[in-house]
Amino acid sequence: MKENGPITGEHIADQLNLTRATLRPDLAILTMAGYLDARPRVGYFYTGKSSTQLLTENLQKIYVKDYQSIPVVVNENISVYDAICTMFLEDVGTLFVVDQQSLLAGVLSRKDLLRASIGKQELTALPINIIMTRMPNITMCEREDLLIHIAKRLIQKQIDAIPVVRKVEKGYEVLGRITKTNIAKAFVELGADV
Ligand code: ADP
Repeated sequence: MKENGPITGEHIADQLNLTRATLRPDLAILTMAGYLDARPRVGYFYTGKSSTQLLTENLQKIYVKDYQSIPVVVNENISVYDAICTMFLEDVGTLFVVDQQSLLAGVLSRKDLLRASIGKQELTALPINIIMTRMPNITMCEREDLLIHIAKRLIQKQIDAIPVVRKVEKGYEVLGRITKTNIAKAFVELGADV
């Protein structure tokens, strides 16, 4: 293809002494992966793109909305004790905290809850809004953000989860969450053929 492109499937088959049916799946894979391109009545040609270039192009097509999961949200008035129970029951590492209007007020991580549990406080009487990381210091993202940008943000800020939000008049509604698990899932699917 590099030497003779553009070249039709028929010509390639002739040159390699193969049937077109034998070649078809291979050509389909190379075209889907972006190494080849095909034009009707012209044939196949080599795109000249490196694997890194193709990976970058694919990364530019993966959005938060494609991989976000359901957020686990609690009210800011619940106790640290109840937050710990919720974290276990819901099997998550980060809780998003909302106010009475269901708008994002804070974030609670495992370590926030551990830290609060070290002292001798009565955990059932300690409200989470005293210990949570609160607005406006919350790192957030939107459905239309590129997942790669959010992955970078997770690393820069050294956090495990980012709420997916929508701006409304008085604040932010929580629509989803992106965690390191979602990023790992995207990473595995990118390398699906490996
Ligand atoms: P862990 O506490 O289990 O290590 P993280 O690394 O996610 O979990 O959290 C570290 C700190 O950053 C915690 O105090 C937490 O409240 C805060 N945090 C977590 N996620 C966010 C976020 N999206 N925006 C701002 N702060 C966050």
